[in-house]
Amino acid sequence: MREYKVVVLGSGGVGKSALTVQFVTGTFIEKYDPTIEDFYRTEQFASMRDLYIKNGQGFILVYSLVNQQSFQDIKPMRDQIVRVKRYEKVPLILVGNKVDLESEREVLTAEGRALAQEWGCPFMETSAKSKTMVDELFAEIVRQMNYASLPEKQDQCCTTCIIQ
Ligand code: GDP
Ligand code: MG
Repeated sequence: MREYKVVVLGSGGVGKSALTVQFVTGTFIEKYDPTIEDFYRTEQFASMRDLYIKNGQGFILVYSLVNQQSFQDIKPMRDQIVRVKRYEKVPLILVGNKVDLESEREVLTAEGRALAQEWGCPFMETSAKSKTMVDELFAEIVRQMNYASLPEKQDQCCTTCIIQ
């Protein structure tokens, strides 16, 4: 078996932890320890993110579709990935999470789709709460990483998720 290093990026509260925990354990968490980023917005953290990106092989960029600001926030994150990896075609998926909150939507499906088209990556709307497209999301990032078929780390035996 192969090890896949997936990095989940997005601003605080978009559901990075909830999506990952839903995929791994099949349960939805209403309250989870806030991710380190939410508390340590320091320069030290910026270099920490560089390190995550350097080690990551696949990237899930998450915004909350009930929060327009979170959609704006992911654009510089994608720039950072391209800068650190020095490569445009890094395995990456754009995700609008919280699709169960349709009545509170602030980011149109068309907006997400257009950004993904610009980036040349897949786009999905998910819900960690109702488990919509969660398995499909992780299956797709693995598919992308296999397609990119990075030659290293072929012989390891588990999946690593770095939640940020
Ligand atoms: P993170 O900071 O990106 O890791 O965000 P969390 O995973 O901690 O989620 C932040 C809040 O949003 C928590 O209260 C979650 O229960 C909630 N949440 C996460 N995903 C969803 C979702 O798909 N739908 C709804 N309704 N709430 C969600
Ligand atoms: Mg978190």
